[in-house]
Amino acid sequence: MPALDPATREALEARLRFYRELGLTDFYRRPVETSQIITSAPEFTSSNAQENSSITQNLGAPGLDVETWEGTSQAMPPQETTPIPPRKTFQAPPPIAPEVASSDRASALQLIREDIGDCTRCALHKGRNRIVFADGDPNARLLFVGEGPGADEDAQGLPFVGRAGQLLNNMIAAMGLKREEVYIANVVKCRPPQNRTPEPEEANTCSPFLFRQIDVVRPEVIVALGATAATYLLGQRQPLAGLRSRIHAFRGSKLIVTYHPAFLLRDPRQKKEAWADLQIAMHELGLKARSS
Ligand code: URA
Repeated sequence: MPALDPATREALEARLRFYRELGLTDFYRRPVETSQIITSAPEFTSSNAQENSSITQNLGAPGLDVETWEGTSQAMPPQETTPIPPRKTFQAPPPIAPEVASSDRASALQLIREDIGDCTRCALHKGRNRIVFADGDPNARLLFVGEGPGADEDAQGLPFVGRAGQLLNNMIAAMGLKREEVYIANVVKCRPPQNRTPEPEEANTCSPFLFRQIDVVRPEVIVALGATAATYLLGQRQPLAGLRSRIHAFRGSKLIVTYHPAFLLRDPRQKKEAWADLQIAMHELGLKARSS
């Protein structure tokens, strides 16, 4: 197959990221005639003033008015013509660890960080600058799980500090909380090259540390941000639509699945849906939306 030109490649990557955030993850390449290869994808660069409206307008939530985007959500799944290979399996989650006293949680988390050390357990270590362990309150009632660090996180050693992190901060504020009051972690702690989805081996190698962190923090509610977090926490691969809008029991916590902030940046129309998910979390936590 001839190499794709950079613009087509970028457009294809953007579209695959979009599908991934919807939980559509299995794609198979079939040979195509050169004449069929797309040479431009204008829908990936069009902007839409209507869709640039704020999350405040979209959600009826105050103060979330920063994000604009360029993109589309008009994509259709690719045609499937080849047999689907068997799905990869998930490893069994570790048993739930005994509860840690509130006063000991910070040091228990520090021990997990020390166990991780200067990790070389999977291939992701080769491209990372910093291990991104987590951020937030060891006694948080609410814990967010993302996919893995991006460039900003890799540079700073903290989760969700880039553009998606800005939106997450706004979502947290709209819930009536401060970022310092929640706990934020990722499925993998090292940045995947080109921000690709972590491979199952990478996620399965790293997620036991996440499970340990969750067991220490013991949040009342966990919000899984996007398909990768939902997949590796729940140990099942399903489109997000099948996992959203309900409460899953998970290691003694209530788990809610919603869209990843990076996806919401690409398709702000879904912010309304995300807000509905966050309201489930707020209801469980007895929180009221911020009023100003
Ligand atoms: N996306 C993630 O999933 N995690 C981060 O920490 C940043 C972006």
